[in-house]
Amino acid sequence: MIVRVLGSAAGGGVPQWNCNCVNCAAARRGDAPPRSQSSFAISADGDAWWLINVSPDVAGQIEAFPPLQPRERRGTPIAGMLLTDANVDHLGGLAVLRQSHPRGFEIYSSEIVRTIATAQPAFAAFGRAPHRWNTVLTEPFALDGGALRVTPLPVPGLTPGFAGRDQTRGAVLAFHVESSAGGGSILFAPVFAAIDPELAAAIDAADVVLLDGSFWSEDEMRDAGLGDKTARGLGHLPLDGVSGSLTAIAGRRNRRIFVHLNNSNPVLDPASPQARAVLAAGAEVAFDGMEILRL
Ligand SMILES: [Zn+2]
Ligand SMILES: [Zn+2]
Repeated sequence: MIVRVLGSAAGGGVPQWNCNCVNCAAARRGDAPPRSQSSFAISADGDAWWLINVSPDVAGQIEAFPPLQPRERRGTPIAGMLLTDANVDHLGGLAVLRQSHPRGFEIYSSEIVRTIATAQPAFAAFGRAPHRWNTVLTEPFALDGGALRVTPLPVPGLTPGFAGRDQTRGAVLAFHVESSAGGGSILFAPVFAAIDPELAAAIDAADVVLLDGSFWSEDEMRDAGLGDKTARGLGHLPLDGVSGSLTAIAGRRNRRIFVHLNNSNPVLDPASPQARAVLAAGAEVAFDGMEILRL
């Protein structure tokens, strides 16, 4: 199985068009790498590819990664997509992929995410043929005829702001993926509002875990003068604090990588004490183009 981080940032990316915070300013100056919005590509064999979330930056992400580019006059090696939730930064890229595609995409999400998404005119066509939108919640399913096995896991989280920020089961999923060829498993959990016992067990069970790294602290947006929204108010468990995700994953032996990083997060500066704390806990900070090969 091949896994690539297409985009490592939360919604807005780094730099974000309307933001001049220290991280966005550093990216504009060229002192820090730019980051596109959160998405991952996985493949059992390097031939057929699946996207985990489809960010509004998907066109640039395809151009930055040749295996996702068309191999015939018209076509795509992207077989379909798995959606963790209905936030625009995770499915907005469907609107970019709306040109005719005779084979259609195989899409997997929870029922509530399909309902929210297909109610939007920009995404409604993906709920009809030639596309196939499959709803999942806890039952494992197979991709590529069984080459990849996926187990979805409902995790604590909220529906998007435009859909009411409701705490509905299925509003947010994580995906545990393993290859039938063996070689290890990976957990995709780019969004969660808390680590409940089921998510904690899933984090322990995977060889590699990709975890929600949106915010370092509950109030970092307010503290940086970027608005009054809190991490948990936006449906994200911050890294810091006794109940934060960094404490929850410390001391585990598997590979732990923080993804979906908001531009307000101080861990984006490798010289910051927060970035050093992540390393000291044995965890990593993802970047665009990060490849996790041969799991
Ligand atoms: Zn997001
Ligand atoms: Zn910023």
